[in-house]
Amino acid sequence: MRSTQFFLPTLRENPTEAQIVSHRLMLRAGLVRQTAAGIYAWLPLGFKVLKNIERIVREEQDATGCQEVLMPTIQSADLWKESGRYEAYGKEMLRIQDRHEREMLYGPTNEEVITDIFRNGAKSYRDVPKLLYHIQWKFRDEVRPRFGVMRGREFLMKDAYSFDLDKAGAKRSYNKMFVAYLRTFARMGLKAIPMAADTGPIGGDLSHEFIILAETGESAVFCDKSFTERDVLSMDIDYESDLEPIVKAWTTDYAATDEKHDAKRFETLAADRRLEARGIEVGHIFYFGTKYSEPLKAQVQAQDGQNVTLHMGSYGIGVSRLVGAVIEASHDDKGIIWPESVAPFRLGLINLKVADAACTKLCDDLYAKLGKAKVEVLYDDRDIRAGEKFAEMDLIGLPWQMVVGPRGAAAGKVELANRKTGEKVEISAEEALNRFTAAQGQ
Ligand code: ATP
Ligand code: MG
Repeated sequence: MRSTQFFLPTLRENPTEAQIVSHRLMLRAGLVRQTAAGIYAWLPLGFKVLKNIERIVREEQDATGCQEVLMPTIQSADLWKESGRYEAYGKEMLRIQDRHEREMLYGPTNEEVITDIFRNGAKSYRDVPKLLYHIQWKFRDEVRPRFGVMRGREFLMKDAYSFDLDKAGAKRSYNKMFVAYLRTFARMGLKAIPMAADTGPIGGDLSHEFIILAETGESAVFCDKSFTERDVLSMDIDYESDLEPIVKAWTTDYAATDEKHDAKRFETLAADRRLEARGIEVGHIFYFGTKYSEPLKAQVQAQDGQNVTLHMGSYGIGVSRLVGAVIEASHDDKGIIWPESVAPFRLGLINLKVADAACTKLCDDLYAKLGKAKVEVLYDDRDIRAGEKFAEMDLIGLPWQMVVGPRGAAAGKVELANRKTGEKVEISAEEALNRFTAAQGQ
């Protein structure tokens, strides 16, 4: 993409409405624009990141055998009356009336709809276990939407649901999601810590929140330092095997949000192992037994001919919140620093002097070759001051910057800079090209 063609409305000044760094940077770097309180439009740069995050979430869900579906945003109130949650959910639910005065709602979550679909489609024990997920917009009329996409009213969520014959089966499904979540967040460069959690309005008796540490997090969290030193991506995972040992290894050390905090137990840790911080919830998983399958009569016939009520779990990831969360975890005073896995472009190609024929020729050539090799590049081909280009490139945080000036171009050289480390090397244009076209996804 050429900057002369790209729609990238950046802001020079800090927007006054933004209280936290990710919100400020998302507005300044032209990722999103608010259209109503807690409701955001995604602009080209932000939408690319959102899709990259969504892709990682999808790949890791698929790897577990969880199958993707797509349920509507608008739901009928009838199912919620059947489950008994229509009244209980309260003002966070956006209730709508259609032209026939039927009660509808904009889905804040999907337990009822998926249970209805599943009870109509599953007949026998052979139809379980099953894991289904979708990635869909939700609406919750939050009292205080704030921090940009972190606590919006309309937001994108991945929500998965599991159906099993009994509690032991449900725990196996839970474990699959637990491990998939560890991998999902790690692939985004995040250290997400699973913490025992309250089950809230979803209900149930087993639940973990996945929390990333950030000063601006909404909840106080307490954990063993060991969580910041782990690596899940180097582990070989077979989702058909028993995952309990992995889940155990990740739930034995102390980790709790303030609601579940046990100060006495925390104090038994050596002082240098205690980590007290603030955290952002990026995912939440629940096992809730028959809470929905009971009232909605989601049953299958067991081997002995008896009807059994299914055991269920639900598993959410805040896809749009993650865009903000990644920025909270990775930025400096110049702007965003995208991890390669979610970056909107892998590199920015900066033409320092568009009027210089050799400089522009080399840039155009590099751009064409990178494009051919399917490397995502933002090519700043605008005729503006070099300082402005550098500042914008730092602000939007692409992992690599390839800088071409008239002097270097004359010698066939470019400067390659790493946004995260600040390291710069002057190398031949050819070598620079090789680095991106040869070793993809380094
Ligand atoms: P929170 O405690 O932050 O209000 P929740 O417990 O109500 O979240 P869940 O029902 O567990 O949320 O939803 C699954 C995930 O969706 C959360 O872990 C979070 O990442 C994301 N999420 C929830 N509410 C919002 C929101 N208002 N804006 C953006 N993302 C959200
Ligand atoms: Mg939650």
